[in-house]
Amino acid sequence: MDAAVIEQPYVYQRRELTEPDWRRFPGWADVTAAQWESAQWQRAHCVKNVRQLREVAGAGLAEAFCADLERDQHEQATMSMLVPPQMLNTMVPTTAPDEPGFTEAFCADPVRRYMIPVFSDRRADWPSHPYASRDSLHEAEMWAVEGLTHRYPTKVLAEVLPTCPQYCGHCTRMDLVGNPTPKVGKHKFGLPRDDRLTSMIAYLKATPGVRDVVVSGGDVANLPWPRLEAFVSALLDIANIRDIRLASKALMGLPQHWLGDDVRAGMERLGAKARERGVSIAIHTHVNAAQSVTPLVARAAQAMLGTGIRDVRNQGVLLRGVNDSARALLDLSFALLDEAKIMPYYFYLCDMIPGSEHWRLSLAEAQQLQHQIMGYLPGFATPRIVCDVPYAGKRWVHQVSRYDTDLGISYWSKNYRTGVETGDPLALSREYAYYDPIHLLPEQGQRWWRARDREPAAAGLTPARFVR
Ligand code: SF4
Repeated sequence: MDAAVIEQPYVYQRRELTEPDWRRFPGWADVTAAQWESAQWQRAHCVKNVRQLREVAGAGLAEAFCADLERDQHEQATMSMLVPPQMLNTMVPTTAPDEPGFTEAFCADPVRRYMIPVFSDRRADWPSHPYASRDSLHEAEMWAVEGLTHRYPTKVLAEVLPTCPQYCGHCTRMDLVGNPTPKVGKHKFGLPRDDRLTSMIAYLKATPGVRDVVVSGGDVANLPWPRLEAFVSALLDIANIRDIRLASKALMGLPQHWLGDDVRAGMERLGAKARERGVSIAIHTHVNAAQSVTPLVARAAQAMLGTGIRDVRNQGVLLRGVNDSARALLDLSFALLDEAKIMPYYFYLCDMIPGSEHWRLSLAEAQQLQHQIMGYLPGFATPRIVCDVPYAGKRWVHQVSRYDTDLGISYWSKNYRTGVETGDPLALSREYAYYDPIHLLPEQGQRWWRARDREPAAAGLTPARFVR
């Protein structure tokens, strides 16, 4: 039979990447290609508030949208606004603000939905899950030294700085990262930066069981290059460190940074030292929608691969209205793999932070998506959809032990102790809970949560109940 006539749920079609024309925005009508490709220009022209968004988009962006955004910033936002021109330009990529229907298209745009959330996006019934929390993965609780989370036996997360060149509305580190918003004050590091980084290196030297360091933040693109290079170079001097992953959404949000001569030259030095020591350096980025993969992003990824590092990988976040279909995930994965040589690796369920219920998917939806994307991409590039279970860690969505779909509670187990469970005899036999959004539950489940919300103590329904 001719393969071309077999009907398939998803039809692969290679798509050439395009850089949307930024001059369609009135505020950027005179911006030259040289300015656009300058990291300095991009950083200086980030959109940080409603007024600046109006200046870029002009009168084509309806006042009602701006008021909706303003209200969200004042009443709900957990992250302040920071959108580089590169990212704003990928929203409604083929429509100019003076065309009819621009605001509606802008409102429906997947990148807009997570980078510029508005008040009416959020759930009015359950804006937050009752068990949502600021540091929902308890990363600070597991700091071995300030900023260094030791959650898994062989791996650590180094939060080297609390800022990024772009702020995502759903940021899981909303407790620490970015500027305060009217609703959320941010945790401040106690130690000066250099002292923190020095104590991280000292801890890793004294802890030979750790072989893998995620250098994150924040986004490493905001650390002055000489400081980042010195830190990574010091990691390369520790004999037990075999994998180093640099976390940077800016590879997509501000590819101009990674294309800069100083950064490329520095990565070449690090790549050469890593090869000499037999260590793998990879860049992990965070792309959630296919339209974000532009020729500049592909150039930045390939420039990094050209420095001799091991890989560039993507960890996206599953978000409703952004990438909650098999088609969206496959389009994104093929754009990354085929056109930018970025390895699709993980998609995370959105973590249980305040104000995230309108973005979050249920575990059942995530399992269905994992099923639907199997078989199209090469096995090595088929992303795993994972749930980051508080106190347990990343678990593939099909690894759940038990799942109460009426109450939306999934139970998980694990096979290692985190840094806060050294003396805990039950750590490996306990079940750890994760919660679906309540608005997706059947009526009896929603009723149960409403009753619990009214009288939690009387019903004895505390978080401890869910962790045996
Ligand atoms: S880039 Fe990462 S750390 Fe920075 S705001 Fe976005 S999700 Fe948070």
